[in-house]
This record gives sequence, C-alpha cells and structure tokens, in this order.
Amino acid sequence: MSTDSGVSRAHLKTLTDRERATFADRHAGSRSAYDRSDNLFGRVPMTWMNKAAGDFPIYLDRAYGNRIVDVDGNEFIDFALGDTGAMAGHSPEPVVAAVTERVRNGLSTMMPTEDAAVAGAELARRFGVPAWSFSLTATDANRWAIRLLRAVTGRSKILVNSYCYHGSVDESLIVVGPDGRGTSRDGNVGAPVDVTLTSRVAEFNDLAGLERELAHGDVAAVLMEPALTNIGIVLPEDGYLAGVRELTRKYGTYLINDETHTFSAGPGGATAFWGLEPDVVTIGKAIGGGVPVGAYGLGSDLVASLQGRADLDLIDMGGVGGTLAGNPVSMAATRATLEHVLTESAFDSMIATASAFAEGLIKIIGGYGLPWSVSRLGARVEYRFASPAPRNGTESAASADAELEDFLHVYLANRGVLLTPFHNMALMCPTTSLNDVARHHEIFDAALKELI
Ligand code: PMP
Repeated sequence: MSTDSGVSRAHLKTLTDRERATFADRHAGSRSAYDRSDNLFGRVPMTWMNKAAGDFPIYLDRAYGNRIVDVDGNEFIDFALGDTGAMAGHSPEPVVAAVTERVRNGLSTMMPTEDAAVAGAELARRFGVPAWSFSLTATDANRWAIRLLRAVTGRSKILVNSYCYHGSVDESLIVVGPDGRGTSRDGNVGAPVDVTLTSRVAEFNDLAGLERELAHGDVAAVLMEPALTNIGIVLPEDGYLAGVRELTRKYGTYLINDETHTFSAGPGGATAFWGLEPDVVTIGKAIGGGVPVGAYGLGSDLVASLQGRADLDLIDMGGVGGTLAGNPVSMAATRATLEHVLTESAFDSMIATASAFAEGLIKIIGGYGLPWSVSRLGARVEYRFASPAPRNGTESAASADAELEDFLHVYLANRGVLLTPFHNMALMCPTTSLNDVARHHEIFDAALKELI
C-alpha cells in the first residue's frame, strides 16, 4: 500500500494559505461570532467543533434538504449531513410536522408515547433483533449494551477493532500498538483505568488476531462496525464478517453491530445488506432525522437471559438509564424518519447518487495518476490517500494527511461545498442530486489541477 499522498508540501502550503485567506474574507460573520464566544470552553458549544479546516467554524443560519446557509449568507451543498445525523436531509418535512405536533403537547413527562412501539417495531423489522430500547446518543446505546452484556456473561472485557470509533465509550479507546498488543489510543482524555483492563483489540479483517484475543475467554462482547467508517471506510473482505460471527459463537462472546454510520448501506444497515446475525444492534444519529436519539436492539435469547436476572436493577440505579431517553420528541422524530423519510425508495436513490459520486471521483483521481483510493458503503463515499484501499484501521490511520485534507475541505467550502470534518466523506441524503455531485466533482477537479 503506498501512503505517499503524491503532492508537493510547499505548494500545498501556499495554496492552503491562499484558501484560508479567502475563507476569512467570506466568513466575517462567523469569525465575529467565534470571537464573541468568550464564555464557551474553546469558544464553541462542544470542543470538537474546533475541527475546522478554515481556522474557525462556519456558523449556521439555516439548513434544509442538503443545503446549508451560514450567517454570512453563503449557501453550501452539504455532503457532511451532520456526520450522518442528517442523513435524512436537514429538517425533512414529515419529521418537522411530527416534532412540531409533539413540541406543543408536552416535552418531558416520564411517560411513554405510542410512537416508541411503532419505531421499535420498524427497527426490529429492518435489523432483525426484536427488543429495542432508546437513549439520546449512539454513545449511550453502546455503553448500555456493553453493561447488559457484561452482566449476562459475567465477563469483564469488550473487544473492538483498532482505530474504531463508537462514541466516547471508554472501552473503545484502544488500538493495536507497534508490538501487536493493545494500548491506549493517543489523546485519550482522563481514562478511568488502563484501557487494557477493560478491553481487547484486533485489527479489522484479521480473524487470526480476533481468535487469539477471544481465546482468553474473558470477552463479553465484540463491539464493531461491519465496515469501519471512522478511519476512512474500510470494507470487510470476503468471509470476514461470517468468520467474526463463527468465532464469537465459538468463544461464547456476544456480537454488537454498531450501525450508527453503516446504516448508509441500506434500510436495514449493513446487518440486512450483508445478512448478518448480531446479538445486539446499536444505532443513533440518522434514525431521529436530526433530533437526538440512540437505540439498542436485543436478540430474543439475550432478552430471556436478562429477564431471568432479578439481581440486575434495570429500572432505577443499575447504570442503564437516562431521564430524557425515550422522550416524546425523539420518539415522534424516529417514527416519522423511519416511516416517511429513510424509506426503501429513498435509499435506492441515495445509493444511486453515491455510486455516481464514487465513479466520478475514481475517474478524476485516476486522471491525475494519484495513489489514492475510493470506498463506498451504500450512500456514503470516502477517499483515502493510499492505494490500494487500506485493509484495516492501522493502515488507514497511516494514510491520513491532515494538511491535504484541510486544503481540500477549505477549497471546497470556499466554492460552496461541504465535506464532513474529520473525514473525506460525502454522504447522500434523499434530496442530493446528480447536479450536486457534478458540482462537487468540478470543484474537486479544479483543486487537484492546482495542486498537481
Ligand atoms: N458509533 C459510531 C459508529 C459513530 O460513528 C459514532 C459517532 N460518530 C457514535 C457511535 C457515537 O455517536 P454519538 O456521538 O451521537 O453518540
């Protein structure tokens, strides 16, 4: 795998400086809003919002469909889509209608609404696990699933793939180190204990490595994305996912598919797309159409094991909960998104648009002879500065090039196109058009022409 991005550093810096100056000119209102945020930690509502290719974040005025308008009146074609939170498009009408109705009629009551059962039934139909519970984030869905599986198995450890991302889940911040053993991921903030006490790790696409770790007999669950999506897209090789299922069964380890991003593969995520049989599915972001929600779905064996456990406090202080989880607004939004927006036919069109996006990218990159690769998972496309495409998280992490990424992001933003920060990722929503794809490609081609 070549990891030389194929560009001159000095030239890249000159171009990026020029683009950042243009960015500052076009975003005076955003700059001024940022400067007025003295009482926000890091000047932003959440510290990750400082991940901005143009020195400061763009401030939102309004967003609809796949368009965003910022406080300076600049309009963008949005391929970031809230890093999947807005895969249904921004403020889709059925979600707005359902939420508006709910907002007027009680926001936080500690009572269930009937929307939750409808949403649960639809998730069960799509993902094949029957018993669903709701959180407000995918992170919490993962945390709670982990707790339940530790309780059921009596085992202490969780296994993840190196360079995975499952939200701010303590157990997941482990990578395969240079000596092949698990070690804390760089930058891990305030770990409660050494992560190797709670976790094991294997490379994606490495069944031998997975078996080596599972053989210790202390792993309650494998928590994984069926394709990695947070270190570029790393697709599973033939037989890998079947092998994971076989090994987890062999060693009495539960399997959690985190579908938060791989939902892009189709209406039932990668689980349905590849015919997988996880014990638990976790998800969040897109299923609420932009309204905060997370969810985990449990297989029936697991439900039976949990129901027999009078020692587990699932109702009060046992460590699984959240006062606003399952609130009426989240439930109304989830029901509306699943029933009316992220439907089978919406996925058909999103996936067709993404295929066109990927094909165009491959052509442009090939035209410049760059050693880059393009991967697609349903409606999600990402390129990496390595060819052939990385096979696992460590290889993919090694192909990162923050300077090149920043240049492309700011160049595109200056011409009205947004990619996802933290990624070279483009996601399609139901209203993303082939014209939008063509516009991205025109600008991307112009950026490469200047660069090479
Ligand atoms: N799982 C996956 C696969 C994710 O990509 C993310 C967020 N990018 C999460 C979980 C956590 O989602 P949230 O930040 O909404 O809790």
